[in-house]
Amino acid sequence: MSALLAVILPSCKTGTIDKSNPLLSDYNTPFNVPPFDRIWAKHYVPAFEKGMEQARTELDAIVASKKKPDYKNTIEAYDKMGSLLTKVFLVFSNQSQSNTNDSLQKIEVEMSPRLAAFQDEVKLNPDLFSRVKSVYENQDKFNLSPEQKFLLENLYKGFIRSGANLNLQDQDTLKAINQKLSVLTVRFNQNVLAETNNFKLIVDEKGLKGLPSSVVTTAAETAKEAGQEGKWAFTTQRPSIFPFLQYSPDRNLRRELFHAYTNRGNNGNEYDNNNIFAEIVSLRAQRAKLLGYESHAHLVLEPRMAKVPENVFNLLSSLWDKALPVAVKEVKEMQGIINSEGGKFKLEPSDWWYYAEKLRKQKYDLDDTELRPYFKLENVRDGVFELADRLFGLTLTPLQNMPLPHPDAQVYEVKEADGSHLGVLYMDFFPRESKRQGAWCTTYRNYHMEDGKAITPVASLVCNFTLPGKDTPSLLSLEEVSTLYHEFGHAIDFLSNKSVYNTIYQAWDFVELPSQLLEHWVTEPEVLGWYAKHYQTGEPIPSVLVDKIRKSAYFNQGFDNVEILAASMLDMVYHTMKAPAKINVQNFEKEYFTVLGLIPEIVSRYRTTYFTHITGEYDAGYYSYTWAAVLDNDAFEAFREKGIFDRATAESYRKNILEKNGTMDAMQMYVNFRGREPVIEPLLKNRGLL
Ligand SMILES: [Zn+2]
Repeated sequence: MSALLAVILPSCKTGTIDKSNPLLSDYNTPFNVPPFDRIWAKHYVPAFEKGMEQARTELDAIVASKKKPDYKNTIEAYDKMGSLLTKVFLVFSNQSQSNTNDSLQKIEVEMSPRLAAFQDEVKLNPDLFSRVKSVYENQDKFNLSPEQKFLLENLYKGFIRSGANLNLQDQDTLKAINQKLSVLTVRFNQNVLAETNNFKLIVDEKGLKGLPSSVVTTAAETAKEAGQEGKWAFTTQRPSIFPFLQYSPDRNLRRELFHAYTNRGNNGNEYDNNNIFAEIVSLRAQRAKLLGYESHAHLVLEPRMAKVPENVFNLLSSLWDKALPVAVKEVKEMQGIINSEGGKFKLEPSDWWYYAEKLRKQKYDLDDTELRPYFKLENVRDGVFELADRLFGLTLTPLQNMPLPHPDAQVYEVKEADGSHLGVLYMDFFPRESKRQGAWCTTYRNYHMEDGKAITPVASLVCNFTLPGKDTPSLLSLEEVSTLYHEFGHAIDFLSNKSVYNTIYQAWDFVELPSQLLEHWVTEPEVLGWYAKHYQTGEPIPSVLVDKIRKSAYFNQGFDNVEILAASMLDMVYHTMKAPAKINVQNFEKEYFTVLGLIPEIVSRYRTTYFTHITGEYDAGYYSYTWAAVLDNDAFEAFREKGIFDRATAESYRKNILEKNGTMDAMQMYVNFRGREPVIEPLLKNRGLL
């Protein structure tokens, strides 16, 4: 039995713990990682229920206390509350995202509203709030550390933003809204997964023209799995659709595949997300109004760096004004190629990748297929490990005989330079139908202190990379290489955290700094020298290719910026709606992009009906990538000034930012590292927008 459960058990009101449920007993695994091989779908609901029951008992104990509220008996007790529930939730949510099935999807539908109701039960508990408020108002009496003050302030304000100050009638309305939202967001995400899995473009040999052989091999495998042996299948998953768009000269097939990609959730079938999303934004606007905020964005931005939507719009539109003319120029250049080839048509969105690839070849004599042989996944991964060593002295050693979240996953022990244990990291690289789109990094356990002892983190990095072929290993695109560095940056952040408490408050528009910062090393010649080795010969990447990569840094920047800015602004307009309204999502999108001046050759990086970021944690938050880009470009300058492997700079970055992340004000952390506030010029320079 874990120390944690031993503490909680005696006060348990009903029943005993079911020891046959691995989520409810001591894990008994190396580093106390979840025993994935023993956890079945049937274990989750009872574990969630036990977790809620224990949290209720802990809550009762806090509010029943006859002692005057102080930091220890209220804030610290609250921070410790619900540890079992969190433990169960983290296993479940990670598995739901990367390894789902019908049973887990059903549990998600069942548990999501129940967990939302439980959340409200806690946040709207008047006795708990009055104790928190009392501590907040008397904080000067408790001689608190800066970290304790930061936690208290965020906790108190979080209660208010969750409705603690509302009258009972309004609280009931709020609970009803939260119930509806919890159901709708789960349905939205499940629909996107279904729509992604349900479409396949099946082609015969004619449809393979121009495609690299590795892409063809994978397409044959996909067709075989879909029961179409002897044919080739392309899907709307990134490693399948984008090479096709890049290389297939067949306009109609490109159009068909791209149409399927950009219309996921918009097909008028049982998985249609139009009305679901309209209801989500309307309910969010209603909730914000109830809580006394101008809009949902005003509500969620309050604890972030940006503070108010105006600051976000200012940044996004200033970049938009610089990026749009660059994109227009790119269109002209590509139209020039079409015309010179005698094509009598105008460039369409589904043509972009094909002609951009031609343009890259023309301008920089660089072809994506030339690079991939140097980006074997295992080599790229080892290059990231080398960087972790050079910057922070960290080493990663593969662990054997460990339970895995999925048979495809790998697991590593992360150690400090002195050999001491820092944490555990899972990596799971390839797409499958049970995994959602994108790439992400999460945790199964966060760093915190328990009875004066450090509990080390367990992180998990999940991607959807190019699959290995029959005779070839997984060979990544340059974009995929950057993605691995990005997610590894998140992992380093999680692994480096040194928060005393369970509860941390990271400003959401700061979370992409550690990830995006690491991307800057990807194309540094010395770093390429470590990892970019030919998968067959082991030869390091030729310096002429390195030069071409460096020279083509501004390639397609108009498109890249416009695509992401359009999605960021779309998210913000939805969430700055001042009153609940029934919108028509397709019209709303179309009208907004017309007003914005989005050119017809570019589609927003995400269209609404599959924009899972904004039904997840990036609501009024997709701008975070751009906001943090100001920070990461400026932060990398600090390394440039002192040398990109300068240990003192890396150490300062780790101490001032990574270790503190979520326990102090984000701008203060940044200033402590950089000696000043960030400036935008490095971002503009690096993106060719000056
Ligand atoms: Zn990220």
